Amino acid sequence: MNAPTGTLYIVSAPSGAGKTSLVKALIDTQPQIRVSVSHTTRGMRPGETDGINYHFVDREAFLAMLERDEFLEHAEVFGNLYGTSQRWLEQTLGEGYDLILEIDWQGAQQVRKLMPQAKSIFILPPTQEALRQRLTNRGQDSDEIIERRMREAVSEMSHYVEYDYLVINDDFAHALDDLRAIFRSNQLQQAPQQQRFGRLLAELLA
Ligand code: 5GP
Repeated sequence: MNAPTGTLYIVSAPSGAGKTSLVKALIDTQPQIRVSVSHTTRGMRPGETDGINYHFVDREAFLAMLERDEFLEHAEVFGNLYGTSQRWLEQTLGEGYDLILEIDWQGAQQVRKLMPQAKSIFILPPTQEALRQRLTNRGQDSDEIIERRMREAVSEMSHYVEYDYLVINDDFAHALDDLRAIFRSNQLQQAPQQQRFGRLLAELLA
């Protein structure tokens, strides 16, 4: 792999914790951050667009990509397959963009092994009740699916200890501030600053 210049971030959360809205609000004001578009075998939900929310593929196409070793990581979640394309990730990091992977804890474990320098963030809802409410308000899934997702959410949340940062999404603006602070402090670390201010540093030390 080419030496990546951008920083890789993993963002995980139980379904309904507000992860996608927070990440969208974050990148709206930060052009140097890109979000990976995963491949999935899940059916498209109302309002979703192929190539924007996900690359929607059938199981056969997904398994063929897996066979060709095209995924950096992949996992089965709620009976559907999800995976991150390795080529796009390498290219984007190599171009100097910071990159967010919105993936589950299983994928996060795989990425950490391959790229230990990745920063990981876990987003939590303020209460279980708030989570249930958010899953219900989506109006896209049946009661049975919501109950199953609640159980899966508790299991997903038990992995929070594996993450570098925790953000509680009680108040959206506050959670967004927290997320911005994480990215800002990482951007100010010595290595990315050295890349950004190479000329200044050379001049200062001349
Ligand atoms: P949803 O179907 O609700 O969009 O996502 C379900 C779960 O799959 C979420 O936890 C989401 O983070 C996870 N997910 C989405 N894309 C990927 C991926 O490429 N890899 C892995 N491991 N998980 C993913």
